Amino acid sequence: MLDTFNPISRVLMGPGPSNVSPRVLGALAKPTIGHLDPQFIQLMDEIKSLLQYAFATENEFTIALSAPGSAGMEACIVNLIEPEDKVIVCVNGVFGGRLKENIERVGAQAIVIEDNWGDPVSLEKVASAFSSNSNIKALAFVHAETSTGVCSDAKALCEIAKNNGAITIVDAVTSLGGSELKIDEWGIDAVYSGSQKCMSCVPGLSPVSFSQTAVETLKTRKSKVQSWFLDQSLVMDYWSGDGKRSYHHTAPINSLYALHEALLILKEEGLENAWARHMRLHQRLKSGIEELGIDFLVDEPYRLPQLNSLVIPKGVDDVQARKYLLDTYNLEVGAGLGKLAGKTWRIGLMGATANEQNIALLLSALKDVIR
Ligand SMILES: *Cc1c(COP(=O)(O)O)cnc(C)c1O
Repeated sequence: MLDTFNPISRVLMGPGPSNVSPRVLGALAKPTIGHLDPQFIQLMDEIKSLLQYAFATENEFTIALSAPGSAGMEACIVNLIEPEDKVIVCVNGVFGGRLKENIERVGAQAIVIEDNWGDPVSLEKVASAFSSNSNIKALAFVHAETSTGVCSDAKALCEIAKNNGAITIVDAVTSLGGSELKIDEWGIDAVYSGSQKCMSCVPGLSPVSFSQTAVETLKTRKSKVQSWFLDQSLVMDYWSGDGKRSYHHTAPINSLYALHEALLILKEEGLENAWARHMRLHQRLKSGIEELGIDFLVDEPYRLPQLNSLVIPKGVDDVQARKYLLDTYNLEVGAGLGKLAGKTWRIGLMGATANEQNIALLLSALKDVIR
């Protein structure tokens, strides 16, 4: 006999989703209304302004795509890049590799800058790629590479791109709400994120923001965007106010209630305070991890506070250890991804998960598992 699904709750200390707070889950359970209901339109306007706060931007085109972070990535590429365009793309982990894949699928030319997994994107290599190539349309890179736990210098990378007349496309899926991210100040043209990482919302939404330059780039395209669903020139009419809102697709109404609540929580805490909390808790984790004699994959200055890649100690079986943590402690940690599979664990300290009790639990559970 089939019955209502009742999952055991877990402490989610992997690469996302992070734990969703009761306030956000409560918002999800509010009555569903129509997506053109005046109440819902007001909600969308509020989400827009809360997202502008979270992204530190005044960009008019700041929305939540009705799809996960991967769709945000694809939306930025298919809207701003056309066949034959030349794009410098930085690959220092799994998600940089996906950016490259998206660029190539559009029929554009990807000029790939590779760095070791665990290293940040090399500014020198990017600058030299701009010097040795002409007519570069865009620079695309991952700010917070969740597969390795490394943070790249987004501000400096955007400056190099601007000096060379290129637009910037930035993956901020893991950085939004977790570490310093300033869209306007850094001159980012197109940015995408995800709801389930440091925003601690349910998965399935992708906050996206386009600068005026990005909007112009989209409006002056030579060819149609090949994806109808992700064509942001159509989505713009749905998210823009002034009574002209027209149907594009049915928005995920209740998920947007949840995002609104998650953004409110971020605003109540304050963006800078949220960044500081992630850093403070990362430092707590770090001292505990060092006491256990476990190494970090990434050199200290480049570590993401919200995603900590640990080198699995010799003699410890990766799969067995993670299963033990899940079965014994209801604790989920992330496996290594891509070429780091079996070599690292990824400890997420994202959003609502980032608190003292969870760090204490993780450290005692790790001590138990390596014993
Ligand atoms: C999680 C993640 C994505 C993909 O987001 P989904 O919501 O899983 O589609 C993209 N880029 C980075 C850096 C991520 O961490």
